[in-house]
Amino acid sequence: MYASEEDWREVDAYFVDTLVPEDEALIEARESGRRTTMPQAEVAPNQGKLLAMLCHIAGATRVLEFGTLAGYSTVWLARAVGEKGRVTSLELEEHNAAIARMNLERAGVADRVDVLVGPAADSAHRLIEDGAEPYDFVFIDADKPSNPEYLRAALALTHPGSVIVIDNVVRNGAVTDPDSPDDRVQGVRTVLADIAQDARLEATALQTVGSKGWDGFTIIRRAH
Ligand code: SAM
Repeated sequence: MYASEEDWREVDAYFVDTLVPEDEALIEARESGRRTTMPQAEVAPNQGKLLAMLCHIAGATRVLEFGTLAGYSTVWLARAVGEKGRVTSLELEEHNAAIARMNLERAGVADRVDVLVGPAADSAHRLIEDGAEPYDFVFIDADKPSNPEYLRAALALTHPGSVIVIDNVVRNGAVTDPDSPDDRVQGVRTVLADIAQDARLEATALQTVGSKGWDGFTIIRRAH
């Protein structure tokens, strides 16, 4: 029997209702995604909580995020690092960043988050040039063609033991097509190949189904 997308949604709703309570600030951050330039592009609540749990497991207090949108994942990450932690989130659009800042304020974490506006590659290179303290956890969730560049920047901004998560690696199954004309697919394929040949990194990737349809993410541990 094949489950339908409706079944996936129902199961996700059950898991979220059972295990992932959201307060008003998280609900508002998620729903305000509709007013951004990329409606409904935020992670699902159970994935947001997974990011927070990975931060806890990794003992992360410094987090770097590529792609803020309305700050939904950012709220999860900022809460995970605690009062003394820091999150730097990179976002192209000032319009989205303004919505995110309001959501971060509402969630009580604005003082521990810097939203840097502009192309994420430029912001990341500025962080490298400025000698930013290494990050313990990186979430890459911006424009997919730039994934290889974001991974390189992440490696310049992390330390052995850091964890890196890259979202949306399934591309409706097109990730297996070496000849795909879609530059987002090629961005994912290239970054996976880069990870595979980098002796410092151990990684796996998982397909997921749920409220966001068919998706998946890569999780990387920087061993050296
Ligand atoms: N991480 C967010 C969450 O889960 O709530 C969702 C991020 S959404 C998938 C991707 C975001 O990346 C959008 O807000 C988009 O404006 C931003 N983006 C796209 N291209 C970018 C670039 N070159 N530099 C920085 N951000 C970019």
